[in-house]
Amino acid sequence: MVESTLFTKIIRGEIPSSKVAEGEEWYAFLDINPHRPGHTLVVPKEEAQRISELSDESRRALLDGVIEVQRRLSVEFETTDFTVNLNDGPLAGQEVPHVHFHVIPRVAEGTRRPMWTQKKDSAEPDFAILAALAERLQTH
Ligand code: 5GP
Repeated sequence: MVESTLFTKIIRGEIPSSKVAEGEEWYAFLDINPHRPGHTLVVPKEEAQRISELSDESRRALLDGVIEVQRRLSVEFETTDFTVNLNDGPLAGQEVPHVHFHVIPRVAEGTRRPMWTQKKDSAEPDFAILAALAERLQTH
């Protein structure tokens, strides 16, 4: 039997995550090691490594998920600007072999609220910060 991917386990709730939003075909949660505060991963429930392997329905729904996540992050971070990135295969830097968009809100330097900054030298994710942020994003 082929082992499920890490993200499938997260979608099923077998591994905990800081959920941001969910649709029928997609699931969004905070990245455990964020590049910036609010860094969210949007993944299809359909398990595939590359976007070309997704069904049409799943692929289209995934972009709807990205837009919904941007909407929620816009409210929280008061921005319209995002870095949206997808590493489509290991040679492109994909570490988890399950399609995922990175959605990262971008704000002008100096406008971030201190409670969202991460401990720079900490190897451990700050789960309390992630959980509090995810809870707010779910209400937006
Ligand atoms: P990739 O390099 O494959 O494009 O991105 C994988 C992302 O998944 C990384 O940004 C990494 O921090 C994130 N990640 C890896 N393991 C976990 C996990 O268990 N939980 C969460 N929320 N994110 C993870």
